[in-house]
Amino acid sequence: MSPARTDHVQIAARLEHAGLRPSAQRVAIASYVLATEDHPSADEVWNRVRVDFPMVSRATVYNTLLAFRDAGLLRQLVLAEGCVVYDPKTEPHHHFVDDDTGAIHDIPWSAIAVGKLDALEGIDVREYMVVVRGRAQSAAATKSRAKVKAKKA
Ligand SMILES: [Zn+2]
Repeated sequence: MSPARTDHVQIAARLEHAGLRPSAQRVAIASYVLATEDHPSADEVWNRVRVDFPMVSRATVYNTLLAFRDAGLLRQLVLAEGCVVYDPKTEPHHHFVDDDTGAIHDIPWSAIAVGKLDALEGIDVREYMVVVRGRAQSAAATKSRAKVKAKKA
């Protein structure tokens, strides 16, 4: 079997395990959205899937993403006003949103500690995440700052 074919068999099995019928369109959508490192919007998923499946409708993609979310395969996040994105990484992690590019990057759970959650009165916390907004420092800027620090020391 070709690698792509093997992937499709594995994805179909994963969908079935999640209680979803692995139709060809669902497998096509899943093979992108469950494997991506990005946090695509539904329209971005649609544009990607249409390359191989020109007949797939926007509504099918939207409904499939909601079915994946309901099955626990994806998380649906609102990280900017009016912008819903999908995240195949379902384990806890935080996010960084780049002011300049709008790009969304994962931050490992262990990198940020949120304190006093237990002290919140009257709230039974189900989940939380930190969304960090700002500008990514370019590698050059980081290096020159390190040099300045080194000179001062
Ligand atoms: Zn994420």
